[in-house]
Amino acid sequence: MLQMGSAITLCEFQREERRLATLEATGILDSEPEPAFDAITRLAAQYFRADTVLLGFADESRIWIKSYWGEAVRELPRIDSTFEMVLAEDGPVVVPDVSRCAETGRRALPLRRLCPASFASVPVRSREGEILGVLSVFACQPRRAMALDELRMLESLAEMVSAQLELRRIKRNCQCASVHALKPAKCAEAGWPTSDDLLRALEQRQFVLYYQPEVELVTHRIVGVEALIRWEHPERGLVCPADFIPFAEESGLILPLGDWGLAEACNQIQSWCSEDPGHSSLRVCVNLSARQFAREGLTDHVEALLQRAGVASRQLGLEMTESSLMPSNHIAVEVLGDLHRLGVSLLMDDFGTGYSSLNYLHSFPFDVLKIDRSFVSRMTQGEQPLQIVRTIIELARALGMDVVAEGIETREQYALLRKLGCRYGQGFLFSPPLPAQRMTECLRLPGRVLPGPEGAEALCN
Ligand code: C2E
Ligand code: MG
Ligand code: MG
Repeated sequence: MLQMGSAITLCEFQREERRLATLEATGILDSEPEPAFDAITRLAAQYFRADTVLLGFADESRIWIKSYWGEAVRELPRIDSTFEMVLAEDGPVVVPDVSRCAETGRRALPLRRLCPASFASVPVRSREGEILGVLSVFACQPRRAMALDELRMLESLAEMVSAQLELRRIKRNCQCASVHALKPAKCAEAGWPTSDDLLRALEQRQFVLYYQPEVELVTHRIVGVEALIRWEHPERGLVCPADFIPFAEESGLILPLGDWGLAEACNQIQSWCSEDPGHSSLRVCVNLSARQFAREGLTDHVEALLQRAGVASRQLGLEMTESSLMPSNHIAVEVLGDLHRLGVSLLMDDFGTGYSSLNYLHSFPFDVLKIDRSFVSRMTQGEQPLQIVRTIIELARALGMDVVAEGIETREQYALLRKLGCRYGQGFLFSPPLPAQRMTECLRLPGRVLPGPEGAEALCN
């Protein structure tokens, strides 16, 4: 039953039905309080010096608070709430001085327990434009009217919430399976490889690292390199990580394999730097798996490897996905803090594919966000994937992080990313992963500048 204080029209009723159906599709109301949104309420609180920030979604009668800053609130009656005001306005509501509300004809506020003297509320909309919830900042003091760019900031934060909701909806529809979900490849026959196969391959040094350049999009200069493991199998040829990493994880052999990879990458950095000391500005990134991450003494191990190879910590980057942090969430903050203090770069890989990406950003000291290639590949196909990429870039900017777009394959994707202000990227458009020797040749290019994607610059103007 709607409890909106007055008789409603058929049109309002239909709007309400649509709203509730969309909310249901996101599953947000049934979820636990949403720490994924804490980065946003925290940012809003800092930016507006607010005493309380609430992010909530409204069902028929209540506002369910999914993240708060300041006052701990779980739910509020919807009647006479700021949500109703935003709904009535069909847009933001800014009240610099609540005591003057009566004069301006507004109804008294319901938030007596917060006793705000001023507040601003903006809608959180669905992709179709329906108002699903509200992001509100409250202050105990009356404040001057909000400047336009301040209001714009609040609206951007609400847009980030909308993008995150949209992600939830897509994922619930299973339309957004990560391309990198490392499931054993279909072509790999059942039972292969066994742990014996993997162990033998390790002993016989059949694993190699390929390197894919990471470029600054405007200049095409190589600023970093991602190390990607391959198995040079004597009969099967070059085997991709998706075909053996899951088995290595399962069997625990990922630990010696990961150790080998880290050591190999450190030696490679050293070798590139000894050829050209200018390469000390290059960052070589290695992917870490869940088991490696959960392993005790990881930071000490990394430090020892760096020392042994004579490499500075800032030359190494460690890439982690949300799922590799998840099983050991409680220790992740500590380990990432230690790695950060050691001075290695921390990159969040495949960003956007997990449910709680925002939460991870909020709690962990990541330097770089890597936008998953599933978003990059779809961004030219419609407004909504484009909006997700735009939001990720804005979010990273707000948090002071660098962004690397993964899997850039076309000139159109390149041009769009540049327009959105994305600074770095990697993908087949620039180069596939290369054997060490060929990567060395790329690094010898004058200024480490790769040839630009033909005609792409024209698309950027
Ligand atoms: P990732 O870290 O997200 O690596 C990016 C993947 O995207 C790589 O696949 C790369 O070859 C591919 N890629 C790069 N540019 C493009 C492009 O333009 N188009 C397309 N379609 N693909 C592109 P790869 O090498 O097969 O690696 C897959 C995943 O395996 C990696 O995803 C990473 O999660 C994991 N992996 C690779 N090496 C290691 C390793 O040494 N240790 C661990 N634990 N995992 C690794
Ligand atoms: Mg990676
Ligand atoms: Mg990735």
